[in-house]
Amino acid sequence: MYKITLLPGDGIGPDITAATKKILAATGVAIEWDEYLAGESAIPEFGTPLPEQVLTSIRKNKIALKGPLTTPIGTGFRSVNVALRKELDLYANVRPARTYEGIRSRYDNIDLVVVRENTEDLYAGVEHMVGEDAAETIKIITRKGSERICRFAFEYAKKNNRRKVTAVHKANIMKCTDGLFLSVAQYIAKEYPEIEFEDRIVDNMCMQLVQKPELYDVMVMPNLYGDIISDLCAGLVGGLGLAPGANIGRDVAVFEPVHGSAPKYAGMDKVNPTAIILSAVLMLRYLGEMKAADQVENALATVIREGKTVTYDLGGTAKGMEMAEAIIAKMR
Ligand code: NAD
Repeated sequence: MYKITLLPGDGIGPDITAATKKILAATGVAIEWDEYLAGESAIPEFGTPLPEQVLTSIRKNKIALKGPLTTPIGTGFRSVNVALRKELDLYANVRPARTYEGIRSRYDNIDLVVVRENTEDLYAGVEHMVGEDAAETIKIITRKGSERICRFAFEYAKKNNRRKVTAVHKANIMKCTDGLFLSVAQYIAKEYPEIEFEDRIVDNMCMQLVQKPELYDVMVMPNLYGDIISDLCAGLVGGLGLAPGANIGRDVAVFEPVHGSAPKYAGMDKVNPTAIILSAVLMLRYLGEMKAADQVENALATVIREGKTVTYDLGGTAKGMEMAEAIIAKMR
C-alpha cells in the first residue's frame, strides 16, 4: 500500500485529479490518498496558499501528485509552485514530450525530455527595486546545483536507454553563470562516455527544435530556459493538455502537469486530463510499478488514436471524466 499526498489544486485541478484517481484505482495498485487543500482554495480556511500540513505530509509520504495551483496576487508568495519546489528542494524538473498517434501536430516522431534545474537561476527569487525606476533580478548558478542537475540528466539518460544529452545555455553572453553551468556539464559528461554529449546556445536550440526536433533527445538546462523550452516542446506535440512533469528531489518527488489551473474552465469537467494522467504514469514508474504504468499509457494512447472519446482540445466533445472512463475500458 502506497500512501501518497494528493493536492487536487485550483481551477480545473479537482476535475482532472478526480479522473486520474479513478484510472489509478482501476490499475489495482493499492494507494491510500492523503488529500489536502493548497493554492488559492486553501486561503479561506488556512490563511495561506501553502499550509504547513501540506509540506509535512509530502515530507512524510515522500511522494505527491498535484493539480495546478493558482498563484494568488497580493500575498507574500511569489508562486506557490516555486515555493513548494524550493521548500522540498525538488531540484530536477523532468518534462517529457512525445507524440501520440491521432493528435494533430506538425510532427509525428517526437520523443524529447527536458531536464530543468528547479531551484536556482533567475527563479531563485532574489530581486529588488533600485530606486523607483530600475529593478534587478539576480541570476544564481552554483557548481553544486549544476553538478546535481547535470548528473541527474545523465543518470536519467542511462536508466531510460537514451542516446544523447544536450546542455542548453547562453554562455557566450553570460560567461560567469551559464559559463559555469556549461563547464560543469562538460565535466560530468566525461563520466558517461557511453552517452553522446553536445551543447547548444538557447536561441539556436529553439530554432533547431522547431526545424529538426528529431535530432534531440534529453536536454538539460538552467531554470528559466527549461520553463520556456518545455512549453515549446509541449507545443511541438500538441499542446499543454498533453504535457506531464515530475519534480524530483533527493528522496521526495512531486508529480504534476506542466499546465496551470485554467480558471475559466473550473468545475466544467471540460479540459483534457491527459497531462496529469501522464504525470501519474511517471509516478507509477518512479514507484517501480512498470506494468501498471504501461497499462495506463497504452490505454491512453489507444483512446487518443481512436479519437472517439477525447476532449475539445483534441477535436472531440467528451468530458474529462468520460475520457478517463474510456481509458479504463481499454485497460481491461
Ligand atoms: P493555464 O495553463 O492555466 O491555461 C492556459 C490555457 O491553456 C487555458 O486557458 C486552456 O485554453 C489551455 N489549457 C491548459 N490546460 C489545459 C488542459 N488540461 N486541457 C486543455 N486545455 C488546457 O495558464 P495560465 O492561464 O497562464 O495560468 C492560470 C493559473 O495557473 C495562474 O494562476 C498560474 O500562476 C497558474 N499556473 C500554475 C502552474 C502549476 O501549478 N504548476 C503552472 C502554470 C500556471
